[in-house]
Amino acid sequence: MTIAPLADNDRIFTNVYGFQDWGLKGAQMRGDWDNTAALMAIGQDAIIDAVKASGLRGRGGAGFPTGMKWGFMPKEPKPGKPNFLVINADESEPGSCKDREIIRHDPHKLIEGALIAGFAMRARAGYIYIRGEFIREAETLFAAVQQAYDAGLLGKNAAGSGYDFDLFVHRGAGAYICGEETAMLNSLEGKKGFPRLKPPFPAGAGLYGCPTTVNNVESIAVVPTILRRGAAWFKGFGREKNEGTKLFQISGHVNKPCVVEETMSIPFRELIDRHAGGIRGGWDNLLAVIPGGSSVPLVPAAQIMDAPMDFDGLRELGSGLGTAAVIVMDKSTDIVKAISRISYFYKHESCGQCTPCREGTGWMWRMMERLREGNADVGEIDLLWDVTKQIEGHTICALGDAAAWPIQGLIRHFRPEVERRILEKEGRTLKAAE
Ligand code: SF4
Repeated sequence: MTIAPLADNDRIFTNVYGFQDWGLKGAQMRGDWDNTAALMAIGQDAIIDAVKASGLRGRGGAGFPTGMKWGFMPKEPKPGKPNFLVINADESEPGSCKDREIIRHDPHKLIEGALIAGFAMRARAGYIYIRGEFIREAETLFAAVQQAYDAGLLGKNAAGSGYDFDLFVHRGAGAYICGEETAMLNSLEGKKGFPRLKPPFPAGAGLYGCPTTVNNVESIAVVPTILRRGAAWFKGFGREKNEGTKLFQISGHVNKPCVVEETMSIPFRELIDRHAGGIRGGWDNLLAVIPGGSSVPLVPAAQIMDAPMDFDGLRELGSGLGTAAVIVMDKSTDIVKAISRISYFYKHESCGQCTPCREGTGWMWRMMERLREGNADVGEIDLLWDVTKQIEGHTICALGDAAAWPIQGLIRHFRPEVERRILEKEGRTLKAAE
């Protein structure tokens, strides 16, 4: 499959590296806030239809069609039950670092997108929930929102559209679980960041019990450009059902780690060669890749080399695009230790509400530590697999799955390596006993 490189004039995020002014003047020079009222004048349903037609799928990990999600919101909010837009800027998934670049260097794309998305779904207020550790990013965002208010782009008659829309920035306190949409709503309401049981879904009963849509930063920030350049333009990139451009975040054992906007569905090898300077030590040195942030299963080198980097292509490999946080591991990696470290992360971040996750994440991590040392029986690998299956799909939120999947990926693809450690350890023990 050949995918043409994304041309510079097709990039949505033209200041992702911060070479230009992030402020309102710089944003306007790049085309943001250019007659936003005209974009809104096509009407709320037409905007939703355009987003549907563009093929945009949520950029926060799940890949749910964005336009369809907006369409779930009531068209005529009931008195006392206003519609709300919540923007998820809690980016905490290990490996993910795209939303923070948008907020640092291109915040007005997000703010303009919030106005248009809020208008389309009949919301009069939007909240950007930003991760607690993003201190400088929050400062930039507060300042950018204030610039927009001062210029009449938010608030009463926002951007001269005749529509009133307020936007608030809310800082979290650094809990990973608050990136889960219903935990985020609880946190916004001033409660503990506990995920809620679904249903009801946020579009039915979300923030303060009112209809709410929660969208990722990137999903919202691309909307103004989609409307300006047309749904067909956006749909022209990538494979069917995986359309658009995407911010990839490439980290780990590549020569030049980077965040880069590229065409969706670009094959892995092209992505790395074109933007990340290749694999450290050459392609023969590649061991495995976690293609979508730490919660998705790893993919061994041979399988990912020519795989299209999109939702469906990676799902076919038993993994996922997630947030497109591509973590590259070369042959110097202690793969069991790497996955054990990820297990520790999920154990640490479990909110503790449900038993399989609260108990299971700790159990899996301790088991992973024993496997790392080779201090286990081979039969315990199957036991661990069974435990991951008992956690997966049996918890209130997806953190249980996120904790189980990396371990499943390890066992599926690197079982011989896990067994080797156990056998070696047994061999050493036997020798010592002799
Ligand atoms: Fe909390 Fe884990 Fe249950 Fe999610 S799965 S609600 S993080 S205990």
